[in-house]
Amino acid sequence: MIDLCVIGAGPAGLMAAEVVADAGLSVLVIDAKPSFGRKFLMAGKSGLNLTKNEPFDVFTANYDEAEPWLRPMLSEFTNTDVCTWAQSLGQEVFTGSSGRVFPKSMKASPLLRAWLLRLSEKGVQFKTRWRWTGWDKTDLKFNTPEGIETINAKTTVLALGGASWANLGSDGKWSDILSNEGIAIHPFKPANMGFIIPWSHHMQPHFGTPVKTITLQAGTKTIRGDFVISAKGIEGSAIYAASKYIRKGAPLVIDLLPDHSEEQLQSRLLQRKTKASRSSVLRKALHLDPVKAALINEFYTKTPIQDLPKIIKSFHIPHNGPRPMDEAISTAGGIPQSALTEGLMLKDKPSVFCAGEMLDWEAPTGGYLITGCLATGRCAGQSAVTYLTA
Ligand SMILES: Cc1cc2nc3c(=O)[nH]c(=O)nc-3n(C[C@H](O)[C@H](O)[C@H](O)COP(=O)(O)OP(=O)(O)OC[C@H]3O[C@@H](n4cnc5c(N)ncnc54)[C@H](O)[C@@H]3O)c2cc1C
Repeated sequence: MIDLCVIGAGPAGLMAAEVVADAGLSVLVIDAKPSFGRKFLMAGKSGLNLTKNEPFDVFTANYDEAEPWLRPMLSEFTNTDVCTWAQSLGQEVFTGSSGRVFPKSMKASPLLRAWLLRLSEKGVQFKTRWRWTGWDKTDLKFNTPEGIETINAKTTVLALGGASWANLGSDGKWSDILSNEGIAIHPFKPANMGFIIPWSHHMQPHFGTPVKTITLQAGTKTIRGDFVISAKGIEGSAIYAASKYIRKGAPLVIDLLPDHSEEQLQSRLLQRKTKASRSSVLRKALHLDPVKAALINEFYTKTPIQDLPKIIKSFHIPHNGPRPMDEAISTAGGIPQSALTEGLMLKDKPSVFCAGEMLDWEAPTGGYLITGCLATGRCAGQSAVTYLTA
């Protein structure tokens, strides 16, 4: 009988597999897709932000409500440990200007390839195209190209991901399986997502353009950064960082010129030429770049010029809610802390551990997601080792 069956070959599942293989135990990793780590590879398309280079307390504060739960696991696998781990797989890392840490290759594929090779050298076995569908008594049940198969494993780590980008494997369908077993699953919600704005045709020339150096008021936090105008609305790091609060009902309010006070903008207006056109005022007197000026014209075209400084400092963007959950970078919801032991074992299913994005925590982009998945995967793996060797 195999010691550990890991289901779900993203960063969380692979980390659990490695910890258990390092303890000299037998491990089988199974995934529904024809290849492993598809979402991880997608994360690599934007450079693979592995973690953030900042003091540990600042780092863990980003997990907000989930910080007390995740902190012990993150302290066992810190943001610094993520860098060492990547280097151990032959991937040198660098810290970008905002503290975000990336592999120098700016891709996930070399890291994933090296990781899978290292796992197979440690004796880990793999199966692809096996979709887990639940349990048959104590056996794990799978739909495979050869029909229904079962696996009898001493322990299981479920690392099935969240509920976005279903085409990459993370379809959230596991929630029905666990709900049917009587495990209370919190509903999925989009996290780190864009918002829908039905732009007029005037905005078309700006699709894909970043709106740089803005601040966003989100709940109690002020977020400084950039966002992007897309054909369907707005997206990008500052919007993602605020998205949790907007999802909970906070208005989307942006300071388009955070380095200037309203008074400074008013005094610039007073110095303008009396016959200056509105677009000249926006550009020359108020120093708005073309995309910021377009945003003003999109929503406040009739606003008297003397009121523009107030609008610029407190720019309310009307929106039609979040983009569909499947487009979100990550999801909130999933298995709540209350359903799990400290070692991430399902209280109602001894010997079954869970890790990664399928747990109910959320964090902004910036490497917090992958670090959280690696840390929870490591914890689940270590708990499986303790369970197997007790
Ligand atoms: C576009 C994009 C960019 C991102 N960029 C970053 C970034 O730069 N930094 C960062 O920290 N995070 C980033 N993320 C988020 C990060 O990729 C995820 O949080 C992370 O991959 C989740 O890891 P996981 O191991 O929990 O699950 P996943 O990586 O989602 O893996 C889950 C696996 O489970 C398998 N599975 C699901 N159901 C079954 C089943 N029934 N049977 C068998 N197998 C099953 C899936 O096929 C999948 O392989 C990004 C996400 C996206 C979409």
